[in-house]
Amino acid sequence: MSEYSYGTAARLATQQAPSAPPALRVVHQPEGIDLAAAETAAGQFLEALGISTASESLRGTPGRMARAYAELFSPRPFDLTTFPNDEGYDELVLARRIPLRSVCEHHLLPFTGTAHVGYLPGSRILGLSKLARVVEHFACRPQVQERLTKQVADWLQTQLEPKGVGVVIEAEHSCMTLRGVQATGSSTMTSTMLGLLRSDARSRSEFLSLTGAAS
Ligand SMILES: [Zn+2]
Repeated sequence: MSEYSYGTAARLATQQAPSAPPALRVVHQPEGIDLAAAETAAGQFLEALGISTASESLRGTPGRMARAYAELFSPRPFDLTTFPNDEGYDELVLARRIPLRSVCEHHLLPFTGTAHVGYLPGSRILGLSKLARVVEHFACRPQVQERLTKQVADWLQTQLEPKGVGVVIEAEHSCMTLRGVQATGSSTMTSTMLGLLRSDARSRSEFLSLTGAAS
């Protein structure tokens, strides 16, 4: 699974009973988090900005900063469990309003919003909660929204081989709302459509209207 960037490692779980559906253990390991070094650097960073950490209230701040960012960059591992599509279900499967939090890689400030992820099943279907886990998997790293949207769609296309995949993300970037242009209340929408959700007008418009992206 070396096509994944950012050191993502994935392997097929082999310890299951023969009748169990295949599960892909999905793990994203950052290059190596050194909390002590991050804490030292955070202290120096604050000092360079003229912020003293001498008071009791701020004494622990560099350590808290280090742990907070480490958490933001460490998605929980999960098993991508798929099941045979025995009933031949061929309509859209859509998880709407999946909460999303990520960190913009240009400012290292958070962006938050929601993701809508849908697919047209092929021969296999996916545990519903897994769509949210895939979003989290790619969100927990320094990101740009455009890449995040495409990575979720591409990954599902590769792993599930559905007839189509659609991902719409709407997010508010604190680097835009809290600083710079201070565009409070503005949100950014991105979408990636693959397969029939891209090429078939009816499927595409159904997906977009169900996500609310078409209005
Ligand atoms: Zn930014």
